[in-house]
Amino acid sequence: MSFWLTEEQEAIREGVQRVCDGFTDEFWRETDATGTFPEPFVAQMAAGGWLGAAMPECYGGAGLGLTEASIVMQTVAQSGAGFSGASAIHLNIFGPMPIVKFGTDWQKQTYLPPIISGQDKMCFAVTEPNSGLDTSSLETRAERTNDGYRINGRKIWTTSAQRANKIILIARTTPKDQVRKPTEGLSLFYTDFDRGRIEAKPIPKMGRRAVECNTLFIDDLHVPKEALIGEEGQGFKYLLQGLNPERVLFAVEAIGLGRAAIAKAAQYAKERIVFGRPIGQNQGVQHPLAKSWAELEAANLLAFKAAALYDAGKECGAEANAAKYLGAEAGFHACEAAVLAHGGMGYAREYDVERYFREAMIARIAPVSREMILNFIAERVLGLPKSY
Ligand SMILES: Cc1cc2nc3c(=O)[nH]c(=O)nc-3n(C[C@H](O)[C@H](O)[C@H](O)COP(=O)(O)OP(=O)(O)OC[C@H]3O[C@@H](n4cnc5c(N)ncnc54)[C@H](O)[C@@H]3O)c2cc1C
Repeated sequence: MSFWLTEEQEAIREGVQRVCDGFTDEFWRETDATGTFPEPFVAQMAAGGWLGAAMPECYGGAGLGLTEASIVMQTVAQSGAGFSGASAIHLNIFGPMPIVKFGTDWQKQTYLPPIISGQDKMCFAVTEPNSGLDTSSLETRAERTNDGYRINGRKIWTTSAQRANKIILIARTTPKDQVRKPTEGLSLFYTDFDRGRIEAKPIPKMGRRAVECNTLFIDDLHVPKEALIGEEGQGFKYLLQGLNPERVLFAVEAIGLGRAAIAKAAQYAKERIVFGRPIGQNQGVQHPLAKSWAELEAANLLAFKAAALYDAGKECGAEANAAKYLGAEAGFHACEAAVLAHGGMGYAREYDVERYFREAMIARIAPVSREMILNFIAERVLGLPKSY
């Protein structure tokens, strides 16, 4: 068991940090204020080869594990880029995994290299307005045609759909009442984001304005049969395979964000003089920051344990879910403590912690809520009856 980075992992952290150093707090403040996607940042991460960190080497990736991908994403979030930076590249890191694991050779050779180079920009459409977390009840339908499928339905919260030229989406291919289990009969497709057939409407939202979320209206989208990933009807199973790595990535991103917030607050607490001494000399200011540091580091250990288990091919569902829960909570509490340590200035954009605070809510909600994680742990770890 190792609790520190190897030389190679440290070099990854330093390499990503060098890219992040080129993007100041002002840059991220501005992208958030104006809702501008951080294109130059993504371009530099692509040029550095970081977008394909976890993709197979034979398709242009670096062939690294979830541990290394976590180091990449945490470094980005912790640099002050927060979720504005992390979410701008998050999908490149693990989004294409269903293609890697279940795609045909032709699909991998055709689809993966342009995603890894940053030429193709994908979005991932699972959530729907009427089904929410109950994915098996989703209503988007894919009907067979002579040469492929015709898809109709609605998706919601789809990140980066304004920018995407590709979409991974899940749709029902066999009605729910004709399958053995509700999770069967769902299929996964990777296809062109055809703007003649998909309308994407941005959702005005609380934070991470640099990376937009959308409602999608899909109207008679024709996709060729090569768009189907794996077997028809097995899409939910493929989706599940990617859930644990995604939970780990959200955990480390939230922890990175929390660390950035604590660093800002500690700095401010050293400099701000009230009652003739630095506010950081008061235990009432010190303790919430110290407590947050402890919570962040504990969550981080579990997140990297989950990543190590995943990389070793071992079961990691409990650890990945618990890490996502703890990382999101620790990140949120750290951002809250940082805002409060800044007093009124915590509410001012100039000090960045209000942006972090807004972004910290994301990891508590997406890609799965706190309640569903606790449901999972209660049922699968503690053996309690399924509650939903
Ligand atoms: C910034 C952001 C980006 C996102 N990006 C994407 C994306 O790119 N692609 C995508 O597909 N989705 C995306 N999402 C959607 C996200 O994954 C969902 O919002 C999330 O899974 C919750 O689903 P819901 O909003 O439908 O909540 P609902 O299912 O409506 O649930 C609402 C609340 O009820 C609780 N609840 C429901 N059922 C139970 C139960 N049985 N027990 C206990 N509590 C319960 C939930 O925990 C939650 O708190 C994004 C969301 C956000 C906020």
